[in-house]
Amino acid sequence: MANPLDRIKPRVRGLKAYTLKPDRGAVKLNQNENPWGVPEAVRAETLRRMGRREWARYPDFVPAALHEKLAAFAGWRADGVVAGNGSNELIQATLMVTVGEGKRVLISEPTFALYRQVTTVLGGEVLSVPLDGALGFDVEALLEAIERDEPDVTILCSPNNPTGCRISEEELERLLTRAGGIVVIDEAYFEFSGRTVAPLLERHPNLAVFRTFSKAMALAGLRVGYLLAAPELAREVSKAVLPYNLNAFSQTAAEVAVELYDAELRPTVERVVAERERLFTELQNIGGLAPVRSCANFMVVRRRRTCASV
Ligand SMILES: *Cc1c(COP(=O)(O)O)cnc(C)c1O
Repeated sequence: MANPLDRIKPRVRGLKAYTLKPDRGAVKLNQNENPWGVPEAVRAETLRRMGRREWARYPDFVPAALHEKLAAFAGWRADGVVAGNGSNELIQATLMVTVGEGKRVLISEPTFALYRQVTTVLGGEVLSVPLDGALGFDVEALLEAIERDEPDVTILCSPNNPTGCRISEEELERLLTRAGGIVVIDEAYFEFSGRTVAPLLERHPNLAVFRTFSKAMALAGLRVGYLLAAPELAREVSKAVLPYNLNAFSQTAAEVAVELYDAELRPTVERVVAERERLFTELQNIGGLAPVRSCANFMVVRRRRTCASV
């Protein structure tokens, strides 16, 4: 009898599904969410606005009000913003409009597993440059790969999940200038780094920046992310996004979170950063442990194995 699974692309059969064990510890660390939850003011205002809204009506086709607020928040233009059902949707959409057989995607590993997963499903080839010995980006090796292999897309996660390293504006600008392809920076954790590469959008039409409401913004359960890019590039990516991808509730909550960011969310981000730095210092004082500097809300700690511990 015919096996329907024979019709699945062999490269997909060869992949392991992207999953996460549903561990529930007393302190939940495995998904890097905001540990203090959504501020009461954001929750209350979202519910108030949803209470007045007609639930039988479709959400906006293009969430223009949210795009405007995100543009102001990011210092970019509203026609260069695309909001999505989580930034993962926008990563997928960007790869859908760029990747197929014969296309190459350059990444720096270890990093977020989704880039490799989606590229492979779409038929593209993944080129991987390892992080350097200090778990930072090997910019020279990335430049070499860009010149030698001419990747169609380069994706860097900065600050990087899972190492917390960040690419500087100067380093990124070197990559952007040399790259013939699109360069994607996943800024899921940018709030914790105090920096962003968004100002480079003005000069580099091959740059796309992804952000999320799942980490600093404390809305992981509502699935909202956004893309910042030149309007022409944003328009092409939008073609792979499903209509009404962002539901009315999430759209409303995201608007409220941006409006109340300075008053309600920024203080929680500052607390996380202060704790990260305190923990870094304390861990350095523990024999055998070597914490790695992080720009995110998590940290890698290296362990020197001693004879006594074997
Ligand atoms: C958490 C995370 C995201 C967020 O994805 P959403 O779909 O917006 O929840 C994106 N990129 C990286 C690297 C992450 O760690």
